[in-house]
Amino acid sequence: MTSFSSFSLREELTQAISDLGFETPTPIQQKVIPTLLSEPIDIIGLAQTGTGKTAAFGLPLLHHVDVAVKQVQCLVLSPTRELCMQIQEEMSKYGARMRGLRITAVYGGMPIAAQIRELRSNPQVVVATPGRLIDLLERKAISLDDVKYVVLDEADEMLNMGFREDIDLILKNTPAREFTWLFSATMSNEVRGIAKRFMKDWKEFSVAAANSTNENIDHQYYVAQHHNRFETLRRLLDFTPGIYGIIFTRTRQDAQDVSEKLMKMGYHVSALHGDMDQKMRSKVMERFKNKSLQCIVATDVAARGIDVNDISHVINYELPDDPEVYTHRSGRTARAGKSGICMSIVSPKQISNIRQIERLVKQKFHKSDIPDGAEVVRKRLFFYMEEISNAAPLPDFAKMYHDSIHEHFADADKDELIRKLIWLQLRDTIDAYQHSEDLNAGYENKDRGSRGSRFSRIFINLGEKDGLTTQKLVQFIAESTDIDPNIIERVTVRDLSSFFNVPGEAAEQIIEQMSSKKFKGRKVRLEEAEQSKGGSGGGGGDFRGKPRPQGGSGGGGRFGGGGEGRGRGESSGGYGGGGGYKGKKKY
Ligand code: AMP
Repeated sequence: MTSFSSFSLREELTQAISDLGFETPTPIQQKVIPTLLSEPIDIIGLAQTGTGKTAAFGLPLLHHVDVAVKQVQCLVLSPTRELCMQIQEEMSKYGARMRGLRITAVYGGMPIAAQIRELRSNPQVVVATPGRLIDLLERKAISLDDVKYVVLDEADEMLNMGFREDIDLILKNTPAREFTWLFSATMSNEVRGIAKRFMKDWKEFSVAAANSTNENIDHQYYVAQHHNRFETLRRLLDFTPGIYGIIFTRTRQDAQDVSEKLMKMGYHVSALHGDMDQKMRSKVMERFKNKSLQCIVATDVAARGIDVNDISHVINYELPDDPEVYTHRSGRTARAGKSGICMSIVSPKQISNIRQIERLVKQKFHKSDIPDGAEVVRKRLFFYMEEISNAAPLPDFAKMYHDSIHEHFADADKDELIRKLIWLQLRDTIDAYQHSEDLNAGYENKDRGSRGSRFSRIFINLGEKDGLTTQKLVQFIAESTDIDPNIIERVTVRDLSSFFNVPGEAAEQIIEQMSSKKFKGRKVRLEEAEQSKGGSGGGGGDFRGKPRPQGGSGGGGRFGGGGEGRGRGESSGGYGGGGGYKGKKKY
């Protein structure tokens, strides 16, 4: 495999890469870097954010820079201020060992005077948004006369944002330009147009759109009526404790409204969109990066430059019109070899859009149930139990308060204490979900197969704790049986167990073929789940959990009947059973 040391990069760069811990060049880096080092011709690189494209052009740029010359030699144009800042940050890391190197970023939304001052320090590399650069050119605050290398980053996005004329003007004002490197996530006639006007004999490099072929992304969709969209989002958030994600809306107004509503409800979220000034946006990004925020609610353009590698979930509050945009969004998660989940909330009418995106990303989307209130409570209960088990109080804390804590609770019963502790944590959730309705929509006629057959809901004794995800479960079933995985629907993966729908006639076959299997050494058990109302496979409310058999593994009934035991009814049989929650509602 190619390594960075096999590139003939200058020593300071190879060192910096090693300091950063980069081991293997990404596909776009492997393709582009050797060419740009040996014969820096014009190129078009088709690659999206997250593929490592900044280093793909940034390392060769820095390799060719002459630090002794105090003139702008390299210009990088990028569509947004966030992206400008990120490119500057990223390139500064690569160039950290190059003495005398200066990289300046100039972009709109910030006082121009400070940027003019920065330019006086004679940077060799300038990263700019087109509009601000033109402003600076007009003020004669920058000269592009010595620019030899120009990089157009996210060219498609710059064109989408109406920068075509600005780009033309800038390129015309670079008389010494020898090399133009154009990067774009997509290729359009307009992008090709720039190449035709300003580039010569270019070579094209493309990497499989990282995002669209990323098999580490589990694509899920949830069908809800339009008016239930917000409530569905909220439920998905509650059902995903520990989420670190981006919620995408179509409009700035939606981003603002959704984030405000969530904030009022106590969620740690913030909006990120173009109506916010630069200072606010930077602040939001900082809080998101240091994890003070669990989610940001963003528009596509504002989110473009977000460079965070460990996003656990992307939620499409609304699907984008353009399926390509979906891949940009989903590609925010599952980066750098990690796995991630992309959830889309769709109305029944939009299911056809999902099919269209499925074809583009060449992956099956999993139709998933919007969890009912009892499931949310159960999920959070398990999350808190884990959190309590894994908590590591500081030794000083233990020392300082040891006596008073123990004195206070000297006579308390341990079980009772645990119950109280968890009750305090869950009380709000329980309150919020006391009267929760079934938000799943559009199943009325769809729970029949193409030949009118009924669907069966199957229980399997494996869940998240076994390392299962929706995707892995479908894969496991496909590998273990002769059935077509496309017939598996409405997968719900819980902590210790999961459920899925298949046409009635396939149910028996699956149960039979899988019952002899093992998953990670554990014997697999499947059963048809209990369904009421004629077994239409409906959401939470339609199931009546059976009292768990004696000796079930769900914690001895302390937190209510159904719990996360191995019983086969899907809905919990009542949260109040043992915990004493008013005894009125389901939990
Ligand atoms: P980009 O596509 O340029 O936005 O890069 C995405 C992220 O990947 C950035 O955080 C880079 O620091 C990181 N990165 C780029 N190249 C590599 C590499 N070869 N190995 C590991 N991480 C990388």
